[in-house]
Amino acid sequence: MPEPIQRFRRKGWRKPDGAVIVTRPSRFGNPFTAADVVACGIAVPETAREAAVEMFAAWLDCGLGVPKPPQERTRVVLLAHLHQLVGRDLACYCPLPEPGERDVCHRRVLMERANRPRTPERAAADGGRLIRMQRACNGCGGGLGDANDAEIHAAISGQPMPDVRGECLRCGPAYAKAVLKELARAR
Ligand SMILES: [Zn+2]
Ligand SMILES: [Zn+2]
Repeated sequence: MPEPIQRFRRKGWRKPDGAVIVTRPSRFGNPFTAADVVACGIAVPETAREAAVEMFAAWLDCGLGVPKPPQERTRVVLLAHLHQLVGRDLACYCPLPEPGERDVCHRRVLMERANRPRTPERAAADGGRLIRMQRACNGCGGGLGDANDAEIHAAISGQPMPDVRGECLRCGPAYAKAVLKELARAR
């Protein structure tokens, strides 16, 4: 199981082997800062970190960009590189959660995205089967795990589901390269 890691600014701190640093200005950084959400009245300082993490999650789902709309390209590039985080420990400056507490850091959102749960089929009480909607890679068709709430809502309301090739260990590297190339051309 991948673990959240706290990064420190002090001299001598070393990234553990295999961990990925997800602080700003890496491509996995949270563009929403706690200071931003306080400045525009979305949260008070006590709830600011939590609000910034929630905004990060909403932005990944649908590009929602309040209060400071980060460029859509930042989001597209991040999603295309999610395969780099599969199974990895993720390091941010935020303090680690107490045992049993939720991690109030965008690294939790990234870990949830890069390591989708896989709910097995279950027998229902009426003799039928309960199946959690699954996501398949848009490239190779490989199973990636459970669809998340935003994807389920999209499917129910007839919206297109996001392309998830960026999550696929097989297709992700080539897909990420293609996305970067396409964005460079569009500049
Ligand atoms: Zn953090
Ligand atoms: Zn694939």
